[in-house]
Amino acid sequence: MVYAAEAQRNHHLSGDGAFTKRCHQWIEERTGCARALLTHSCTSALDMAALLLDIKSGDEVIVPSYTFVSTANAFVLRGAVPVFVDIREDTLNLDEKLIEDAITTRTRAIVPVHYAGVSCEMDSMMAIAGRHDLKVVEDAAQGIMAGYKNRALGAIGDLGSFSFHETKNIISGEGGSLLVRDAELVQRAEIMREKGTDRGRFFRGEVDKYTWQDVGSSFLPNEITAAFLWAQLEEAQQITSERMAIWRRYHQMLEPLERQGLLRRPIVPADCQHNGHMYYVLLAPEIDRQQVLNGLKQNGIGAVFHYVPLHSSPGGRRYGRAHGELALTTSLSQRLVRLPMWFGLSESQQARVCEVLTALLKK
Ligand SMILES: *Cc1c(COP(=O)(O)O)cnc(C)c1O
Repeated sequence: MVYAAEAQRNHHLSGDGAFTKRCHQWIEERTGCARALLTHSCTSALDMAALLLDIKSGDEVIVPSYTFVSTANAFVLRGAVPVFVDIREDTLNLDEKLIEDAITTRTRAIVPVHYAGVSCEMDSMMAIAGRHDLKVVEDAAQGIMAGYKNRALGAIGDLGSFSFHETKNIISGEGGSLLVRDAELVQRAEIMREKGTDRGRFFRGEVDKYTWQDVGSSFLPNEITAAFLWAQLEEAQQITSERMAIWRRYHQMLEPLERQGLLRRPIVPADCQHNGHMYYVLLAPEIDRQQVLNGLKQNGIGAVFHYVPLHSSPGGRRYGRAHGELALTTSLSQRLVRLPMWFGLSESQQARVCEVLTALLKK
């Protein structure tokens, strides 16, 4: 709030003022990307990625079906066909072993989603992209402060995106960032974000007037949003540590239920440094999830499930194509329950969630 007032005193409330620059610099230093550009959302960062890659009608992009709609929509907006590929049983991330079989002459990009802040198998995916001359766009909406082999998520692929939506770890209400790893795409990204003009270069004194250069739109957030975000980024380490502590407590408390075969806890491969974004459990197949969710609700515990697989949704059936059966996507998505998880959730609250869950599962 103090920063928002400062933004107002700076007499710069539109985009790309002092706070936006600080946020850009923070993301660039933290992730090692060539350029970070704040956007209105992760959705609009993905829209920018599809524009930047010149995705056209008839192109194909490989995406998981187990994800939020924006992962696919950004490319559908450009006329491309999302090709849905199944997920891995351990991380619920796009299965790198199935990607090559889904590649056709029309494939242009692979879009890994780092579910729950746990990285995809990025070395394999980058190698596949290299062999087939494809671009990699990371949907790192849930991946800020998380890593893969100690590289920051969002800055491994050609392009990446963060979300600062209020449901994520680091927030500004609505908000996001595009991460550009490839230095050659930086200038075009800046132009597209500023309505297709070279206004950025003009303000840096590199050109003496700014004009229409390319396709684009208004993708930049105002300074109030950036000021709010800056306050969050300053606390990012502490927020992440707190969430990791909450995550570890759930993990410990639920170990007995896993041993009894009533649920499966999240699996984090050794190469992945996650960020405690989410704690979910996969109920044993024979358990009725709706009954469990109802039971939790009756006890005042707000647990939810997601996602309805895109390949089975009306939009996904209309615009996309399923590659294979997607059996794991279908079965795992029906067993998943997200437990309450927020900054400040206390140990006793967590103990109660686990107690109620235990009683419901043993019924
Ligand atoms: C939250 C989320 C998005 C969308 O982020 P917004 O900032 O709300 O646009 C996209 N993809 C995934 C995987 C998400 O979790």
